[in-house]
Amino acid sequence: MSSNNLLLTPIEYLKGVGPSRGELLRKELGIHKYADLLNFYPNRYIDRTRYYKINELQNNIAEVQIIGKIINIKTVEFAKGRKRLVATFTDDTGQMELVWFQGHKWIRESLKLNQITVIFGKCTSFNGMYNMAHPEIELLSEHEQSLRSAMQAVYPSTETLTNRGISNRVINKMMQQLFLETQALFTETLPDYLTQELKLIPKNAALFNIHFPKSADALRKAQFRLKFEELFFIQIQLIMKNLIQKHKIKGHPFTKVGQFFNEFYQNHLPFELTNAQKRVIKEIRTDMGSNAQMNRLLQGDVGSGKTIVAFMSMLLAMDNGFQACLMAPTEILANQHFLGLSELANKLNINIRILTGSTKTSDRKIIHEELENGTLQILIGTHALLEDKVKFHSLGLAIIDEQHRFGVEQRSKLWKKNDIPPHILVMTATPIPRTLAMSLYGDLDISVIDELPPGRKPIQTVHRYDSNRLKIWKFIRDEIALGRQIYIVYPLIQESEKMDYKDLMDGYESISRDFPLPQYAVSIVHGKMKPADKDAEMKRFSEGKTNIMVATTVIEVGVNVPNASVMIIESAERFGLSQLHQLRGRVGRGAEQSYCILITSHKLSSDSKTRMETMVRTNDGFEIAEVDLKLRGPGNLMGTQQSGVLNLQIADIVKDREILSLARAHALKILSDDAPLQKPEHAVLRAVYMELTKKKNIWNYIS
Ligand code: ADP
Ligand code: MG
Repeated sequence: MSSNNLLLTPIEYLKGVGPSRGELLRKELGIHKYADLLNFYPNRYIDRTRYYKINELQNNIAEVQIIGKIINIKTVEFAKGRKRLVATFTDDTGQMELVWFQGHKWIRESLKLNQITVIFGKCTSFNGMYNMAHPEIELLSEHEQSLRSAMQAVYPSTETLTNRGISNRVINKMMQQLFLETQALFTETLPDYLTQELKLIPKNAALFNIHFPKSADALRKAQFRLKFEELFFIQIQLIMKNLIQKHKIKGHPFTKVGQFFNEFYQNHLPFELTNAQKRVIKEIRTDMGSNAQMNRLLQGDVGSGKTIVAFMSMLLAMDNGFQACLMAPTEILANQHFLGLSELANKLNINIRILTGSTKTSDRKIIHEELENGTLQILIGTHALLEDKVKFHSLGLAIIDEQHRFGVEQRSKLWKKNDIPPHILVMTATPIPRTLAMSLYGDLDISVIDELPPGRKPIQTVHRYDSNRLKIWKFIRDEIALGRQIYIVYPLIQESEKMDYKDLMDGYESISRDFPLPQYAVSIVHGKMKPADKDAEMKRFSEGKTNIMVATTVIEVGVNVPNASVMIIESAERFGLSQLHQLRGRVGRGAEQSYCILITSHKLSSDSKTRMETMVRTNDGFEIAEVDLKLRGPGNLMGTQQSGVLNLQIADIVKDREILSLARAHALKILSDDAPLQKPEHAVLRAVYMELTKKKNIWNYIS
């Protein structure tokens, strides 16, 4: 049997595992087969060649190993009904304690008194005595037999595993056994020319050195090789998916640029397009002009002018005899889009309507009719557009605004509205760092508007503490005297909703007191209000009838009131960076200098400080997204949780972005040259790809 077949063996057959440990490995670590264990990588390495003496210990040094004896074991009750097991451990320089909070019975039975023993773990000092909680323990005689290197692998573990005696040492032994049984002959997964070009070490050597590094240098090379491979195959899959979509999914070719587009471009453009807008419109036009369905992501910072791009794309649909729709995540936003786009559409006598949850039945009837007979050209709306009742005569383009609120599932629901799916344009409000976009949306084509319309004054952002409020209020009065309007936003986090509402209402009351009628008028909008009331308040504010809008993050996305020039964010430390940036984007839309004031308490975590400093330093959404990614890691960014793409074994999208770019470049090059992976030198890639995707008959789609 070759090693590769052997790797499919269930894990319990590995010597030293057996059924009960096998069950634990499956449940706790998802290790089912030999191969899973092989690909279970250490998360760090420690030096096991050095031994400490008890009198050398210091607080908070990394794990240490000590040779000595256990001279006494006792059970101590430390809180009502809660016990711990304590052993006294000595060497020729002093005494310390070993402590267990769980697994007493099992551990007590396995401990051997007065024999020379090696302990390993983290030490802390308490009341002048060092102790080690849940140490690894082995007799010196056993210890001397096991493979020991200057860099010993430490594997991720779980509490259950530790309690059930599957320590790091046990995993290490299993790994040794695995290499023994398989003779460490693993099949190469990358073409020779690629490993040579990139100076990658062979797969065998990489796997050996990731688990049993011979040197720091060997480890570094092993990590590089395995990270590259992991990212490379993700890119191969994503790019392949995109290629297959293009071949499999026919789209309506929009071959014409006609009356609607030209008339608008020549006579009704409200401003000159930025170069970035022009470039992006061209990309969209080319894409929709081909035979394949467009799946495109349009990225651009807040205020970069995505709406006009969306509108002009819709005009192309109409020029080719198709309908278009735009879906927004909230009713407020849908309304806003409707108002803005109606203004443009009316100039061209386009029939445009809006459909949301609160559309009246009589209006609904008209919409359904006109949609089906094709006289309705543009439909704006919310999720309501996805209902089965909503049937288009000929939907050619579906635009989704503020992507992160909609899942992939909803995207494909829009597809199903016709036999031939509409072109899809997804617009994100939150810039996504390029590296992450590559991984998350590698199956979408990406257009980026990386330029703001001219003449924008950068918003001035400051960070102030609660205690500065008097000064801030004075500033608000001055701005209102100049005719400007103010937003004051409060956090609303689901977990502490009650407290948050209280803060919001308290804030509203005190603001109403400090800015009393009739001189001032204060609006409030929050999620618990009825949609109609919300809209009415928003309208009062956008018409300038109120000076101050007190709100929760309801106003986060899209709302456009150009006369509002000050954004005040209360408890700003409780918001994430991208949210802060989105909120700030509500001002700076008019000709006036705008301001953003971040108010926090004096006590700030270092992450919160970094967030405030970043906001004060830059207005660039992409730069902010990069910092956000570094602070929070990719897993916490919007939309990434559902994406399996980020279940990486060894690579890290933040730290290994350069390897990611390299992997993507090579994947693109290979697939543009040999998409079916037919060349002999690509047979190995084809085999891995088939194994990864379990797909058999995709090759027809790629020529
Ligand atoms: P976003 O990308 O955040 O959706 P919008 O499309 O709402 O941005 O545009 C923001 C503001 O900028 C709008 O008031 C819009 O009319 C204006 N705008 C867009 N493009 C240009 C341009 N090329 N020149 C001047 N103003 C523009
Ligand atoms: Mg927008």
